[in-house]
Amino acid sequence: MSRYWSPVVGTLSPYVPGEQPKLTNLVKLNTNENPYGPSPRALQAMRDACDDSMRLYPDPASDRLRQAAAASAGVSPDQVFVGNGSDEVLAHVFQAFFQQPAPLRFPDISYSFYPVYCGLYGVVHEPVPLTDDFRIDPDDYLPDAGGRGPAGGIIFPNPNAPTGRALELDEVERIVAANPQCVVVVDEAYVDFGAQSAAPLVGRHENLLVVQTLSKSRSLAGLRVGFAIGHEALIDGLQRVKNSFNSYPIDRVAEAGAAAALDDVGHFERTRKAVMETRARMTAGLQDLGFEVLPSAANFVFARHPGHDAAGLAAGLRERSIIVRHFRHPRIDQFLRITVGTEPQCTTLLEALRALVQG
Ligand SMILES: *Cc1c(COP(=O)(O)O)cnc(C)c1O
Repeated sequence: MSRYWSPVVGTLSPYVPGEQPKLTNLVKLNTNENPYGPSPRALQAMRDACDDSMRLYPDPASDRLRQAAAASAGVSPDQVFVGNGSDEVLAHVFQAFFQQPAPLRFPDISYSFYPVYCGLYGVVHEPVPLTDDFRIDPDDYLPDAGGRGPAGGIIFPNPNAPTGRALELDEVERIVAANPQCVVVVDEAYVDFGAQSAAPLVGRHENLLVVQTLSKSRSLAGLRVGFAIGHEALIDGLQRVKNSFNSYPIDRVAEAGAAAALDDVGHFERTRKAVMETRARMTAGLQDLGFEVLPSAANFVFARHPGHDAAGLAAGLRERSIIVRHFRHPRIDQFLRITVGTEPQCTTLLEALRALVQG
């Protein structure tokens, strides 16, 4: 606390990112990074961008990147907004659309940045519990569900995090169509690992906004690029907020690298397929050891063991230099969220868990 702070600062509960340990030789399965490197073409484009032109400001509209994102999502560049990581895109979304008298609704178990932005931007919000088997039930998001009255906004990840469970596209559309009074945001950080994108629906629903990132399936978490896809009027709202905050969120190197990564479809297809194959082996291996594993459409799995405490397992893995994520939150404190790594990392993980579980 300091008497110099603006009043809101003392009330904030900031997001706590998964740790980024300085040690090398760790099997790092705690923050859902991609185990495969980015597209070599993206790396080359970034090297090429490092020349005398760095003395100039970048394109404030990031046209080249918006075109690449539009092409990859099958929409027009006017339907794309880009930002410095999808976290920044989401921040602008909360300010542009969710400061409403009616509450923002999102799942009780979901991306923990959402309540943080509510605190920062003064957004009233209301958790919607997942079902007992950790699914989003679209019926719970209908405006008259539970006699609560219409929402002022809705946001959920698809697939959800940290559960990994995905909704079908028709279920997503049902939520969007039932709530024309507010913006419905589908956070598709993990969509490329096995769910269907709602991007093709933006032409039909002016209240739908789809948010994606290059951090996970494009293996560029270090670059900080994300984007939103939606109706031109929503994109215009986001531009107004962005241009009142930072005119140049995407630097020259990031724009070149991100556009090249989006263009490299071959690398993208190969690496996401490898992640999905390892996920299947990891799931089967965990089940063999007695774990319950939620069906995952993401690059991580969410698993619990009926006979072993999750915090104890996480500590045991850490002693063996394997880091996974454990959340001390009600309902999920017996689960581990484990990022899908390479095949050798998967083998190391399963061997370590075998030793811990079978003592
Ligand atoms: C990783 C993640 C993000 C943020 O991604 P960045 O683009 O790296 O900021 C957003 N939403 C969810 C659900 C995520 O897991």
